Amino acid sequence: MKKLINFILLFVSISILVNGQRKVVHLPDLPGYVTLKCDLHLHTVFSDGNVWPTIRVDEALRDGLDAIAITDHLDYFTHTDYIKTDHNAGWKVTELYAKERNIILVQGTEIGRDMPPGHVNALFIHDATSLVKDSVWDAFEAAIQQGAFLMWNHPGWKHQQPDGIPRLYDIHLKMIEKGWLHGIEFLNFIDYYPLVLEMCKEHNLAVMGSSDMHGLISETYKIPEYTNRPMTLVFAKERSHDALREALFAGRTLVWFHEMIAGRVEYAKPFFYGCISVSKIYYENDKKKFFEVTNHSDIPFSLINGKRTPKSVVLEANSVTRIAVSKDVVFPITYEVSNVLIGENEYLKIELE
Ligand code: ZN
Repeated sequence: MKKLINFILLFVSISILVNGQRKVVHLPDLPGYVTLKCDLHLHTVFSDGNVWPTIRVDEALRDGLDAIAITDHLDYFTHTDYIKTDHNAGWKVTELYAKERNIILVQGTEIGRDMPPGHVNALFIHDATSLVKDSVWDAFEAAIQQGAFLMWNHPGWKHQQPDGIPRLYDIHLKMIEKGWLHGIEFLNFIDYYPLVLEMCKEHNLAVMGSSDMHGLISETYKIPEYTNRPMTLVFAKERSHDALREALFAGRTLVWFHEMIAGRVEYAKPFFYGCISVSKIYYENDKKKFFEVTNHSDIPFSLINGKRTPKSVVLEANSVTRIAVSKDVVFPITYEVSNVLIGENEYLKIELE
């Protein structure tokens, strides 16, 4: 009997340990940094979302994320008949749950106004309630006093910006001038705004991408239509809450959604080279020489505008691609990567050695 009980206890403890395994996502680190996969814009039943906050942690595990922020609206609630309003509820309900599961939880909220300024997430705060103010400027100031990272959300959201073109209004410029704006969403949900890449370059801001999810991630980003949910890839000195914060303020980010990477060239270029390795010439005959490119990442890359080489090449995810070029082609050969955006109309340029 004792043996049986021991066996049952062992079985129970094993099943507890194996629950909620985190997916392994194959992405490279950059020299000196680890790549943290983050979604820092999420809603729950404590504003207008449809899930309990802990579900956001479970989804993060399932998708292989390192960090999330629950950013319920400060000023928009749809469940008040059933759920009392508490601006810090998402954090309080989830803090320990995330800790146990090794998911970095960032405390946040979403300050919502008409455009301008539109919607702004305050991340790394410690009390959302004190950000409830009549004047949006006072709300920003209260967030900054808590050391917040302020991110302008969906700047081209057609509901607020009918032509879909993001514009930095006076209030955004004033925020930038005071050092109160730190990032802009290039990507929100499934919409993206190439112009944001230029804004972030010009004003030295972090390029952000988030799901802004209100329902279930798994029911929204379905394979094969979408290979993954939107993520901000953050290049941090270590995998910790404080290192994540430091890296965001330093603007070390890229955005990954489906098959697209976007961000500043100084991160996009080493990221691309971290994903691939190029072999020596393994065979040549009197016309051609052959080599291989291995893509170690989960992101396929589409190379275009090759000169005297195959005009376009797809480096499939987690695959080895064989390339043949004329015998007299001199290395390095150059391509543009059409799914790596580094400007409004600019693809990453790369060389294969
Ligand atoms: Zn939102």
